[in-house]
Amino acid sequence: MLWQGRRESGNISDRRGFSGGGLAVGGGAIGLNIYLISIFLGGGDPNQLSEVLQGSRELTPAEQAADDERAAFVKVVLAETEDVWHELFREQGGNYVEPKLVLFRDGVQSGCGNASSAAGPFYCPADQQVYIDLSFYQELQQRFHVQGDFPMAYVIAHEVGHHVQNLLGLSAQLDERRQQLSEKEYNRYSVMAELQADFYAGLWAHYANRMDTILEEGDIEEALNAANAIGDDMLQKQSQGYVVPDAFTHGTSAQRMYWFKKGWTTGDIRQGDTFREASLSLLDK
Ligand SMILES: [Zn+2]
Repeated sequence: MLWQGRRESGNISDRRGFSGGGLAVGGGAIGLNIYLISIFLGGGDPNQLSEVLQGSRELTPAEQAADDERAAFVKVVLAETEDVWHELFREQGGNYVEPKLVLFRDGVQSGCGNASSAAGPFYCPADQQVYIDLSFYQELQQRFHVQGDFPMAYVIAHEVGHHVQNLLGLSAQLDERRQQLSEKEYNRYSVMAELQADFYAGLWAHYANRMDTILEEGDIEEALNAANAIGDDMLQKQSQGYVVPDAFTHGTSAQRMYWFKKGWTTGDIRQGDTFREASLSLLDK
């Protein structure tokens, strides 16, 4: 992605220097409010990720420099999401409220409870903040074998997509539904919400590139590779060797790629109604 020298968002809270404190490391990745937040990854067992938590040792100067460069990248991507969503909200006669993004290391306290890095990036509707531990950047490459920098932009744009859903009232509706539904039924809604966040990420790429020409050759392929690598079916197969569609919370690899691509190619926000279209019948197969 062509990101160097571009505007960096000011909506960053850099808490990399602070320890989260009091975290249940290695246990449940997240505190009480697990359902309220939108975690980037579905499927699998978060405990498997706990090795990334081993100690919070000091970074070497070289590691610190690499970490700071990743932080700068995140700030630029966040700024690009601000530009795009302000424009899209304005077109609809609305007003976009920018989210804050918290950079943390190892663990963090959020408005949705404590979280460790094992949870992966997430969005908390209660405080309207996106939370990212930059080590996820390496995890994408090492654990998911996803190359390039654009997958991290996709991750951020996906989380900002949840913020858009929150602004549009969707998060509150889903929370309400959750009280009335079985887990299996609720998971289907979760999948639709996650696929819509993927669609919004693709939509963002479409407009950001139109407004600012941010894309390099291969960036979209990198994002699609990432979407493929983190589908629920793929994660479940890796972690347990078989697939349980009823437990899907984020959608299959094919679905995640499909919706990102649809946002990217159409550039039409009206095409992103995963709740109506959803091809949810796909989940029954
Ligand atoms: Zn998500």
